[in-house]
Amino acid sequence: MLPDLERLIHLQDIETRVGAAQRIVAAAPERIAALDAKLAAAREGVEAAKAAVAENQAARRTVDKDLLASQQRLEKYKEQSMAVKTNTEFHAMQHQMAAVKAEIDQFESRTLEIMMHADELAAALTAAEARLKADEAAVVAERRAIEAERAESEAALKALAAERAALVRQISPQLVSTFEKVARVRNGQAMARAEKERCVVCQVRLRPMIFQAVVRNDAIVQCDSCQRILYFVAPAPGEHPSTAGASEPPAASSHS
Ligand SMILES: [Zn+2]
Repeated sequence: MLPDLERLIHLQDIETRVGAAQRIVAAAPERIAALDAKLAAAREGVEAAKAAVAENQAARRTVDKDLLASQQRLEKYKEQSMAVKTNTEFHAMQHQMAAVKAEIDQFESRTLEIMMHADELAAALTAAEARLKADEAAVVAERRAIEAERAESEAALKALAAERAALVRQISPQLVSTFEKVARVRNGQAMARAEKERCVVCQVRLRPMIFQAVVRNDAIVQCDSCQRILYFVAPAPGEHPSTAGASEPPAASSHS
């Protein structure tokens, strides 16, 4: 293979790894922000559950107070009813006592409701606290993994930059410029394998003469369609040549 072609393939490999490492580094802040948001939501869940418990307890205190007041009123009416002199007074007192008893019934059923609700709220708070605890542990681990991945990628980028600089020094500047121009417009992919008379990246059919030149790997040939620099990889031993290699053996085309 033409040494420059081999170097360009190597350069593409470096660029691809650089791209992957850059994406990891660039994505890290957003991934960490997503973890923070998850934790914040879990904390809010606990706060909301605590607020609901507090509200329930306040409602309980209010109804307890109301109930006590009604019970005291009922006691007072009972005492007063002992002292009534007339039938009219007695009936009026009976009437007041019935009203306050109805109040007491209401407060008691309200107390029962509040107590049952309290059990649900306590369970919800326990669940929210457990979720926060689990999220906190998971976030610590995930955050550590993201940081490690970022550090690893940053170190890889440094090493790749050095590797790239050394490699580029061995390639003619004009060829490097061609490579970079194609890479810029082709999403970082300046090289393309040719197979079965096609550019495997853009899938456009290559003219037979062009394909034969690519199969020889001894010149810089660009795809007519996508401009990527083409190269050929011989099929692995055992692989059927017609599935991966030239559609006709190179020898057959020597007369053309
Ligand atoms: Zn192409």
